[in-house]
Amino acid sequence: MEAIAAGLAAVGFALPGTLTIRAYRCGKARCRCRADPPRLHGPYAEWTRKMHGKTVTRRLTDAELADYQPLFDNARKLRGLLAELQDLTLAIVEAPPAATRGSQLARTPTGSG
Ligand SMILES: [Zn+2]
Repeated sequence: MEAIAAGLAAVGFALPGTLTIRAYRCGKARCRCRADPPRLHGPYAEWTRKMHGKTVTRRLTDAELADYQPLFDNARKLRGLLAELQDLTLAIVEAPPAATRGSQLARTPTGSG
């Protein structure tokens, strides 16, 4: 628990959504991306996230990608830590009766344990 809390505190800024780097074919019939062998466009970095219930995809420039990459990495770390924390909490909640339950859930991240 303390390790997870420390990890959460250490991560820092994080961006929502997912970063995808992909190459693609465009709609033009006589384009290099449809040649043999094909030379696809990109690869481009695309940032996909939900905004107001809609999925929004934005292409990132190289400079933006360099700036934002660590923030996506942070978000992934946070999700991993959150999953660990939830697993741990589930284990406590579902553990058989009384003995450990109350005291473990009451413990705060900053407590000395
Ligand atoms: Zn093309």
